[in-house]
Amino acid sequence: MAGAARGDLPVSISARVRASLRRKLLAWYQGNARSLPWRRSRDPYAILVAEFMLQQTRVGVVIPFFERFLERFPTFEALAQAPLEDVLRAWSGLGYYQRARNLHRLARRVAEQGSLPRTYSELKALPGVGDYTAAAVASIAFGEPHAAVDGNVRRVLARLTGCSPAASQNRKWLENLAEQLLDRRSPGTFNQALMDLGAVVCRPRAPTCQLCPWRRYCVSARTGFAPVGQAGRRRIPADAEQILIGIRRGRRVLMWRRPVESQRLAGFWELPESSALPDWQLVRWVGEFSHMITQTRYRVRVAEGKVWEVPAACQWVDMEELAWLPVSTMSRKALRLLGWDGAGAAEGKRNGQVKAFSGSGLGIGPGRRTHKVTS
Ligand code: SF4
Repeated sequence: MAGAARGDLPVSISARVRASLRRKLLAWYQGNARSLPWRRSRDPYAILVAEFMLQQTRVGVVIPFFERFLERFPTFEALAQAPLEDVLRAWSGLGYYQRARNLHRLARRVAEQGSLPRTYSELKALPGVGDYTAAAVASIAFGEPHAAVDGNVRRVLARLTGCSPAASQNRKWLENLAEQLLDRRSPGTFNQALMDLGAVVCRPRAPTCQLCPWRRYCVSARTGFAPVGQAGRRRIPADAEQILIGIRRGRRVLMWRRPVESQRLAGFWELPESSALPDWQLVRWVGEFSHMITQTRYRVRVAEGKVWEVPAACQWVDMEELAWLPVSTMSRKALRLLGWDGAGAAEGKRNGQVKAFSGSGLGIGPGRRTHKVTS
């Protein structure tokens, strides 16, 4: 393949080279496809749920959520009939909850219409379905010839051709290239093969070119220049602190619920922050943990406290009920530290270490111990 200077638009790729790239990729995929639970099914519902969960989320994180979700809501009808609260609860810990709301709305629409539409443009009209998800579902579930192009695919194609995936003028060109390379007889297989090549071989920071079926044609493999693009760029998270207060009356815990118009975690239950309880009094410091929300790393300290007056925004909630309500992962981790979460706090396991304080000080001194949260 004729190379291109860094950042320049590459020259066109001949039909012969495109056919060879296609063949080599599909042959590689036959022996190297990842075994993923949603690939064991041709059910459009399972494929769609997987694509929703995979938006912004790594495959390894998605797998257990996908399996539990499919067990709980095995069909569009089951999902459509479930209250939103149950769906959010099943999604709890996966983050980006707008996806769960959109999936629920989508299921209700599909249940009304009778079936999931099959074409790219009809799929794109559904809630929460963008270009990538529409192309992935249309091609994998229905064999529609559409290239699914996300940041990973752009990175692979940019490396192949030696152009910069971050340059906005190259974006459209790379999408067109993906369409030209697409195997129109097996578009779903081709799209999944390219996804796997980006995930397993042409990885963001360390491409293993010696294992790559495209190395013969690849400009980056020849020049040693491997652009990482948006997907590989490491951003430095900001640090923030938060204090969550656990207050109980017998078996009831003081909680507040985010309003439906809330930008984040709408409808989720939370433990109150210290700033929302101006008159709270400390009973004991319980522990601390770290928690990431998008680009912010929170150091969350947890206290058991008391208040004389319950703020209007708060309510008493039974501890048993907490296991079934949508509670934010941060609050669930704090409830677990307090020992008030009953069952079902597995989400906390994924997101940071928890330190429980055995003394009354704020984790300073010999009374401090550290343990991993386990499910
Ligand atoms: S040869 Fe290397 S840089 Fe080129 S596409 Fe393959 S893994 Fe990526």
